[in-house]
Amino acid sequence: MYCTSCGSYVPDNQGVCPNCGAAVTPAQAQPVYQQPVYQQPAYQQPAYHAPVYTPVDVPRGNGLGTAGMVLGIVSTCISWIPAINVIVFVTGFLGLIFSIVGVCRRNVSGKGKAIAGIILSAIALVITFSMYYYLGNY
Ligand SMILES: [Zn+2]
Repeated sequence: MYCTSCGSYVPDNQGVCPNCGAAVTPAQAQPVYQQPVYQQPAYQQPAYHAPVYTPVDVPRGNGLGTAGMVLGIVSTCISWIPAINVIVFVTGFLGLIFSIVGVCRRNVSGKGKAIAGIILSAIALVITFSMYYYLGNY
């Protein structure tokens, strides 16, 4: 141990410093070694954001919408032709149904076609009904 007064070495079995004569107690003599507190830098663990799996909704083809549009186009063309436009009662109706279903189906592409199908089918049906209403049956 070391003397607390002068700092010289004092043998453990001696209670008095041989250099300066100060009373040395073992508890005081032992220089307290201040262990430097190692400040560990706080490691900011990057928050791992697990990629959220979102099922990719691949829009399916809107076959009904396309069919509805085609039927609507055909119906509109036919609706002006007397007698033959009786077909429109079938094609226009089917086109309307297909198009409405095509619009209502979720997660499908080509809704524009389906909407066009609704409009065209409706126009065809209106024309056909009008012709029959105003011109009478053929
Ligand atoms: Zn001393």
